[in-house]
Amino acid sequence: MRKTSKSYSVRSELKPKERFFRSVEFLKVDRPPVLSANSTVTAEIMDDLGIYMKDAYSDPMKMADLASTAYTVLGFEAVGVPFCQTVEAEVFGIEVDWGKKKTTIPTISYRGDVAPEGIDVPERFLEKGRVPVVLRAIEILAERFDDVPVFGRVIGPFSLAAHIANMEKILRMSIKKPKLVVELTEMCIDVIAEYANAMLEHGADAVVIENMFASADVIGAKGYASSAKPFDKELIEKINGPTILHICGDCTSIIEDMVETGASCLSIDSKTDARHAVEVSRGKAAIMGNVDTVYTLPFGSEKDVKNEVMRAVEAGVDIVAPGCAISPLTPTRNVRVMVETVRLLSADR
Ligand SMILES: [Zn+2]
Repeated sequence: MRKTSKSYSVRSELKPKERFFRSVEFLKVDRPPVLSANSTVTAEIMDDLGIYMKDAYSDPMKMADLASTAYTVLGFEAVGVPFCQTVEAEVFGIEVDWGKKKTTIPTISYRGDVAPEGIDVPERFLEKGRVPVVLRAIEILAERFDDVPVFGRVIGPFSLAAHIANMEKILRMSIKKPKLVVELTEMCIDVIAEYANAMLEHGADAVVIENMFASADVIGAKGYASSAKPFDKELIEKINGPTILHICGDCTSIIEDMVETGASCLSIDSKTDARHAVEVSRGKAAIMGNVDTVYTLPFGSEKDVKNEVMRAVEAGVDIVAPGCAISPLTPTRNVRVMVETVRLLSADR
């Protein structure tokens, strides 16, 4: 039976990077790190800084400045780029939807008008689209923050395949033309691995793999095991550094499969049973999460946020984090309550 609360060491002067790596390696820490695997950029922050999505994606310094606010404004103990999951698909020629507002996080509009047949791996991927901006922003962040972990974020192979070929088409093809899906996804792995390793070479401390469509909510537990897990595992084997695998929605039924991918850390959403995730991952993968980003962080009261943080802490997560990307509607105030609640843990123990 797992303890409901952890024992933390008395050493309270750990730097954020040291605390993060110790947590991932299950070594003693003064308290859990509080950080985010996914984007933390909000409308409030963009307005305050006067840097919006398009600015950040066209200028590495602006991208780094916006990313820095995760630490400097919100108090999270990590920074990361980019802020969306569209960079890779754009290089494959897929149109990006920048939304109506300048604070909208870019998405892919799933028009599905690109046939996966005949798609080739883009040559010189690292020089294309917004990839150079992201890599230079990582360099700037690594120079700027000695003691704070820098995350490079890539999309998961299944999700990139779905961006290229359209989600519904991929699901249909998995049944009718499974070989084609495998070919497409393998191609995605090569590109993502090259990009992830470039991030590490440019100074990232860990790579976050955001595989939002691989959720059990979308493809079911069996679907994850057969159509996404083998590719996540293959990608993780090709990445030359620590990895954080993030899958949205309720992943309670696929946690064991996620552990088997070999990721250093699993980032789980609020719908996932954190206690179960911690139980099945011990000694194999750290668990980070799983504060609610749909209601609690954007709209909850201070008390709601504190309760939600303590629920994750009591479940035994190694790292306290939002369950997914923070909504652009989230007020800075609520994130700071989240961070402060975790920071006070060391004083309590
Ligand atoms: Zn998510």
